[in-house]
Formats: sequence, structure tokens, C-alpha cells
Amino acid sequence: NNKEWQAAYSVIEQLEQAGYEAVIVGGAVRDTLLNRPAHDVDVATNALPEEVKSVFPRTVDIGIQHGTVLVIVPAGPVEVTTYRTDGEYTDHRRPEKVQFVRSLQEDLQRRDFTMNAIAMRLDGSYVDYYGGYQDIEKHMIRAVGDAQQRFSEDALRMLRAVRFSAQLDFAIAADTMSAIQTRASDIAFIARERIKAELDKLWVGQAVFGGIQKLEESGLAAYLPGDFQAEYWRGFHTEDKLLGWAYFALLQGTDWREIVRDYRLSNKEMAFVKSVLSAYEALKEGWTNTHYFMYTAQELEAAQYFARLRQLDAALPQLSIRELQAMLPIQQKQDLVVNGADLLKWSGKKGGPWLKDALEDMLSAIIHHELQNDRQQIKNWLEQHYF
Ligand code: ATP
Ligand code: MG
Repeated sequence: NNKEWQAAYSVIEQLEQAGYEAVIVGGAVRDTLLNRPAHDVDVATNALPEEVKSVFPRTVDIGIQHGTVLVIVPAGPVEVTTYRTDGEYTDHRRPEKVQFVRSLQEDLQRRDFTMNAIAMRLDGSYVDYYGGYQDIEKHMIRAVGDAQQRFSEDALRMLRAVRFSAQLDFAIAADTMSAIQTRASDIAFIARERIKAELDKLWVGQAVFGGIQKLEESGLAAYLPGDFQAEYWRGFHTEDKLLGWAYFALLQGTDWREIVRDYRLSNKEMAFVKSVLSAYEALKEGWTNTHYFMYTAQELEAAQYFARLRQLDAALPQLSIRELQAMLPIQQKQDLVVNGADLLKWSGKKGGPWLKDALEDMLSAIIHHELQNDRQQIKNWLEQHYF
């Protein structure tokens, strides 16, 4: 993290030495003022992209049409973006074209919220034309300029407001909130992938419950797939976005699959959500050794956490799931000392559905401590039951 700042400072220094102006902007400035660790330290400059490239020996074009060049200095890579204003917005998503400008104030004016429109100079001074510092002190999210117009330009900003409120535990200023209420239906113009990226961040926020309340209060929830049901999110907290999706899925009932799919979760993400939901069903029936074996500790812990949130009256084990899993005779299928080929050889029979049944029964007997994971004992057991 310190490296990122060093890298940004060194980029600013070199741009200034070449006669340009450069500042740190956006999330890094906001998070510093909030005493939160900043992840990306972004630099903005009055140098045009070509000028930036001429100052540094190593650069990568990562978004040249938006004015962004990745500059690589010894301390690491830094995103450097030329001051710009956004042209006309005709689709509620993206400007038709961007215009590079030489004025920092104009660049800050195009940014979404006052807290995200503060710049920091190399000497540690702040440039804050829109009252961002005050709003940060008040824990307030406020659009830069006319909220209606800013949301009309880019509808994603409405969801960003709600996501930041969950992430930072901030309120949304009254005029900003009422502008969202007016324009909420525009969220339909935004690609689901971008909506998912915002929800990914909302789920792991420190104030998810408040965020989802605002999602509903703002009217945005009505234009997004699924039912958010704010009342069930009180006390929800996670550091894993997939647990957010799993809990959201749980609240959707039987149609969860189509609804969650709509947010373009990957197959891997869908598989995890599905496992947690089926672990939750298993919990309702009372977990057995088989369940400790079939699900990962993370999946079972998530199911248990959801049961607590839902105040489900389910009997929970006294020991931790990890302890229970450690007590199982084997931890994974690969730990079995026999396999299907052994069964075929010992029985002299042809393969068929019986083989799968035999393997499953054998596994079940072993994890329930009715049979030892020992070749001779398994062979005897199979002879009694299957051959
Ligand atoms: P995070 O902690 O989520 O990264 P961030 O503020 O850095 O928060 P980014 O999406 O990385 O958010 O964007 C960086 C900066 O670019 C923002 O701080 C804001 O100034 C500006 N910005 C980003 N998206 C928009 C948008 N849709 N409209 C206007 N300005 C935006
Ligand atoms: Mg960022």
C-alpha cells in the first residue's frame, strides 16, 4: 500500500519536473481523509496522454481514448489520467466523447460525488472546489452539481451512491436521494455486469443493512432482478462477496437460480451459491457426518450463519465445523484406500449401477465409523453386502 503511494508520488514529481501539473484524485484521497486504507492511488494531470508517454520510459496504453495511461516506475504501476470533461451523454451510460482540458477544476466537476472530487497535491495540500471535505466530515454522499442531471448522464452513479453508503456507512444527501428516486428507472440502461460489480462491493460493506434499505428507499431495487428484502439484512456482515450473493439467493426462494444468473455470476460463483443453499437445506434437517464430509467448512459455516440471521430454530453442533471435519475418519474421497477398479477385480462382476451404490454405501459406512478405511476390512464388508 505504501508502495502505491511512493509510486504515485514519484510519477507526480517527474510530471512536475517536466513542467506539468499532477495530483492524486478519487478514492485514494477520500479514503485517506477517512483514515481508511486506500487501494488504487490514481493520478490526474494536465499533460495530454502523448505528453505523459514522452515523460516516462515505460508506459502501457490502457484506456488512451479516456486519457488513461499506465505509467510504470520502479515502485510500481500508476494510472495517470489526463484532466478531462465528459461530452454529451446520450445513452445514460457513457459520454459520446471525452474532451481533454488543462483545468483541474473542470476535471473535478465531472466526478460523481463531492467526496470523490477532491485532489491532493504533492505537498499534502487539498484542492476541494465542491465541499467534499465537509461532506466527508458529515458522512454524506452528495452529487457534484445538479444531482438530476448527473444521474441522467450516467445512471450507474445512482447505484454507486447506494454502494458507497453501504461501504462507508454514509448517508445520502436529501437532494441526491430525491434525484435517485426520480430517475431510478434509468438503472435499466446499465449492463448487468456493472450492476453486479457494485453489488459485489455493497455486500462486503460495513453497513449492508443500511445500504439495502437505501436501495429500496431510492426505488432502485424495484428495477433490479430479485427481491432485496432489507428487513432480513439487519446485522449481516461478511468479507466475502459470494456470501452476499448466497444470502441474496436464499432470500429469493425457489426461483433463486434465474434471478441470480441475471446478474451474470460465473459458473464457479453459481456453484458456490448452490452448495451453500443446499448446505442450508441440510442444516434444516440436522447435519450428519455425511454433510460434514460433502460440504466445505466455509459452506457449512455460511449455512450456519444464515440460519442464525434467519433465527432458524435448528440444532447446531457444539463443536466447530472445522473440528467436526477433523474428526472424520477420512477428509476427502481420495483418502479411500480402495477404488472402483478394486471392486471390479474382487467381485469378478461387470461394472454397472451397483458399483456406484457400493462405493457410496462403503463411503457412508466409513465416514459414520461403521467400517474402517482398511483394504482387508473393506473387502470383507463388500463380500457380505455386495458380492
Ligand atoms: P473504490 O474504493 O470503489 O475504488 P473509487 O472512488 O476509487 O472507489 P472508482 O470506480 O475506482 O471509485 O473511480 C475512481 C474515481 O473516478 C472516483 O473517485 C470518481 O472521482 C471517478 N468516477 C468513477 N466512476 C464515475 C462515474 N460513473 N461518474 C463520475 N465519476 C466517476
Ligand atoms: Mg478506485
